[in-house]
Amino acid sequence: METKIFSKDQLDDAVKLLKRGELVAFPTETVYGLGALATDEVAVKNVYAAKGRPSDNPLIVTVSNPEMMARYVTQIPEVAEKLINQFWPGPLTIILKVKEGALPNAVTGGLTTAAFRNPQDKLTQELISKLDAPIVGPSANTSTKPSPTTAEHVFHDLNGKIAGIVDNGPTEIGLESTIIDLSVETPVVLRPGEITPEQLSEALGQAVLMNKGTTQTKGVPKAPGMKYRHYAPSAPVYIVDDVKDFEKIVYNNQVGVAALSNVLKNIEANNTFNLGENIDEAAHNLFGALRYFDEQKNIKKIYVQGFQQGDISAAYMNRLTKAAAGHHYFNK
Ligand code: AMP
Ligand code: MG
Repeated sequence: METKIFSKDQLDDAVKLLKRGELVAFPTETVYGLGALATDEVAVKNVYAAKGRPSDNPLIVTVSNPEMMARYVTQIPEVAEKLINQFWPGPLTIILKVKEGALPNAVTGGLTTAAFRNPQDKLTQELISKLDAPIVGPSANTSTKPSPTTAEHVFHDLNGKIAGIVDNGPTEIGLESTIIDLSVETPVVLRPGEITPEQLSEALGQAVLMNKGTTQTKGVPKAPGMKYRHYAPSAPVYIVDDVKDFEKIVYNNQVGVAALSNVLKNIEANNTFNLGENIDEAAHNLFGALRYFDEQKNIKKIYVQGFQQGDISAAYMNRLTKAAAGHHYFNK
């Protein structure tokens, strides 16, 4: 299959393909999503196949407004209304109870809840509005690889496996949305993102919990995707928490280093990726850096700067820890 790239004036072609049950990747402010009509079970199953994603890992349902979401949920509780008013459209995914049979099992993974997101990207808003139906939106990468932050990343992973990609340039944030479960009594953040637990708790006027473990009672994962290895380049990744440690590493061409420009300028490394000037830029560039080194077949180790400060540092460290399988420079 030929994977077509659509620019902003070719949205109607993308809509036609989605209507026919084809897969089309779409831009958001976080990462590129892999779209398929959420009501079309066969199309949704093809998303799992294209990504190589385990089928018990449910998908996010992407809507163009809260009214579209209302068609599928049992109700919109007050907590959801508060968060929608403050953060939608934006990088926040909310989990709500769904009407029985409203969405295919392939979307929900057989759960009685579903995850809903309303992204900011204007092209994607228009695409879903024209379709007048939600699309599923897992990240448009091969499962376990870093999420795609450009149309080129999507093309690299899924060329020949999907019908098209709507290209709206690099994504702004570069890390996936915050996910909050509102189907339980006390809201729980299942995945950290740019919107922090503090912001959520302030908007709600109540405490929110952070999902620390990955499993619920009886071993059923709360956010099932969390049990899988993620974002992992082929070579091992190590987190460097203390910038002074960058001076102790022995560098050669087989060692990749991703750090801020002020760190890189002080070290002798020759195979580097500049993460930018600050933590926000580093978050924006992290997945691109992991992909950059993954393209180099002779690379043996990848060292990536860790961050403890900044609103997005929890999300950044969450993704980096998964890529590094928990390995830090100091305890490698
Ligand atoms: P991705 O689609 O790759 O951005 O990942 C979406 C994340 O949302 C995965 O970790 C899913 O397991 C999780 N997710 C989707 N739907 C639900 C749900 N109903 N309950 C809990 N987690 C969910
Ligand atoms: Mg993903």
